[in-house]
Amino acid sequence: EKLKIELASSIREFPDFPQKGILFKDIMPIFQKPQLVTNMCVAIAAHAVAEIPVPVDAVAGLEARGFLFGPQIAAILNVPFIPIRKQGKLPGKTVRATYVKEYGEDVVEVQSDALKPGAKVMIVDDLLATGGTMKAAIEVIQKAGGDVAEAFCIIELTALKGRDVLLDTVPVFTLLSF
Ligand code: 5GP
Repeated sequence: EKLKIELASSIREFPDFPQKGILFKDIMPIFQKPQLVTNMCVAIAAHAVAEIPVPVDAVAGLEARGFLFGPQIAAILNVPFIPIRKQGKLPGKTVRATYVKEYGEDVVEVQSDALKPGAKVMIVDDLLATGGTMKAAIEVIQKAGGDVAEAFCIIELTALKGRDVLLDTVPVFTLLSF
């Protein structure tokens, strides 16, 4: 619909970033348009209410770009926002999950007391590529006692089949496919 067209036209492509052979999709132009950001977050929240079969108890966002719009969605839904961060950034007791990226191994963490046991969590990130990052996010939310109700990304790179890596575990929803 109209929102998707406006979002798609607000994504720029950068060849060979952050390394040679990668065509990077830059979502920052979306954030040059505050009304578009609001409309996008309202639409994602409306999707969560209408299409996730359980009420969402928390929105978890992946560092760093999941932090750009996850808190607005959580605020609209009137539920907590939970940051999923790279290793070493969160104080206190944490749980973690490790994953392999094109550029080495990475660890994500969530604070151990961030979620009520059994909380239904919507995880949000900007882009689904191989699915490795989202898989680790799902694992870390589960370790923190959460129940992942949906893995959400604005963009899905369908050729990389990240959805197939996740579908056995949780429902996956994306706004734009390339
Ligand atoms: P995956 O683990 O699915 O292969 O990669 C997805 C993660 O890498 C996401 O956290 C996403 O932010 C980042 N990422 C990978 N490629 C791109 C890209 O082309 N554009 C943006 N904005 N993020 C990307």
